[in-house]
Amino acid sequence: MSGMEKEPVERLLRNLPAVGKFLEDAQTTELIQRFSRREVVQTFQELMEELREEIRQGRLGADEIPKRVRNIMQAVRHRLHERARPSLRRVVNATGILLLTNAGRAPLAEPVFEAMREPVCRYSNLEYDLTLGRRGHRDIHVEGRLRRLLGCEAATVVNNAAAALVLILNTLARNRDVLVSRGELIEIGGSFRLPEIMQAGGAFLKEVGTTNRTRTADFADAVDENTAVILRVHPSNYRIVGFTESPPLAELVEMAHRRRLPLVYDVGSGLLFPDAHSALREEPAISDCLAQGVDLVCSSGDKLLGGPQAGLIVGRHDLVEKIRRNPLMRAMRVDKMVYAALDATLLQYAAGRHRSVLPVWSMLQISDEEIRRRVEAVQQRCSGGNLIVEIEPGYSYLGGGSAPGEGIPTWLLALQSTRLSARSIEEALRRHTPPILTRIEKERVLLDLRTVFPDEDEILASGLLGLAKSGFAEAHESSS
Ligand SMILES: *Cc1c(COP(=O)(O)O)cnc(C)c1O
Repeated sequence: MSGMEKEPVERLLRNLPAVGKFLEDAQTTELIQRFSRREVVQTFQELMEELREEIRQGRLGADEIPKRVRNIMQAVRHRLHERARPSLRRVVNATGILLLTNAGRAPLAEPVFEAMREPVCRYSNLEYDLTLGRRGHRDIHVEGRLRRLLGCEAATVVNNAAAALVLILNTLARNRDVLVSRGELIEIGGSFRLPEIMQAGGAFLKEVGTTNRTRTADFADAVDENTAVILRVHPSNYRIVGFTESPPLAELVEMAHRRRLPLVYDVGSGLLFPDAHSALREEPAISDCLAQGVDLVCSSGDKLLGGPQAGLIVGRHDLVEKIRRNPLMRAMRVDKMVYAALDATLLQYAAGRHRSVLPVWSMLQISDEEIRRRVEAVQQRCSGGNLIVEIEPGYSYLGGGSAPGEGIPTWLLALQSTRLSARSIEEALRRHTPPILTRIEKERVLLDLRTVFPDEDEILASGLLGLAKSGFAEAHESSS
């Protein structure tokens, strides 16, 4: 770099005001009261340093600098407000996918959240036996309710279903073989892969049968002195169609017990009882599995169960006791928040209210007419402008690795614009406050109100209205 260029840059830098100058401003005093002196000073320093860097790299002309300096107060305020926002925020889920993993799977019911407040915000009897006045076990907080609900001998809870399976395999089958049907070697959400879970638990996977057909006799033939567990896994997120066969559960249980082996069933979704809803026809219910003699059932807490993220293990008392004594249990145990939420969720089942109180269940139950009425109301409010809003029949999905392809009939809002691509509409809605999540099919943006809480229809309508009115400007701005 020549001396002639270097000199002006250094002069420009020298002429910038010091951070101290901004700190005397009355507006800064307000910011300090709100965000703390440290945060405010740090943010001024950051923005000034960014400005200096731009000048050093020659990306900012001498004539543009005064304006940037004038705007620094506003930039600092904006950044402070941005940073004060919680990282985890509500989104409006208009995808129609009920258990959208990326959006937090099952939303908790409001009464469940209310029930958590006291034991979580105050001290609790988490591990204190109030009757005997001595140390108690945290595990009892949901075990009683699960036993009464399901009639099982014992129950325990860990962080999620993946942890439950690792723990079960590590306890019952470490350094030994676990038999699994080839048709059930699942991967869920990219990170839950059965062979890897098996390895993490220290067990050896022994595949049985073929991808589409596995019979009880195949299992019986595969059993030898190294076999520790027979594992059944519900293939939640896919379905093998055509010429298929898997052993009837009761038959497999009977064979396992004849060989004195425990049968473990990972059912995934946590459906407690069979339900007549057409979308749940192929979901194994935990109560059914237990009735058919399965020794241990494990499942997620935040799928169809409709509670917090958790992994439930229910079944035989001696096996659950063994699991509790595994040192890994200590590494996978759940927090008081999970016990409180899970207990309050299960209470809804005990009271026969889960279909109306738990959001996932009430969303499943919404009637055709109800969805149609809401969709029409939103359409009426936001038609016109740049947006073409049409109503058409379509499907909602359970998602979250539950019931593959089982669509639930619904009414969709299909958006198209004369000026915006489907990608731009989707992006503009995603950048709305609060963000609105949609799906794109065949170059159209689809919105399904089944997964939108009724009090969010208003947010949706005003988001769409904004897009219809100023769609071009907004989407253009947000993508820059
Ligand atoms: C979803 C699912 C899991 C993983 O559950 P997490 O609670 O997310 O760990 C495991 N097995 C099956 C069959 C599932 O459907």
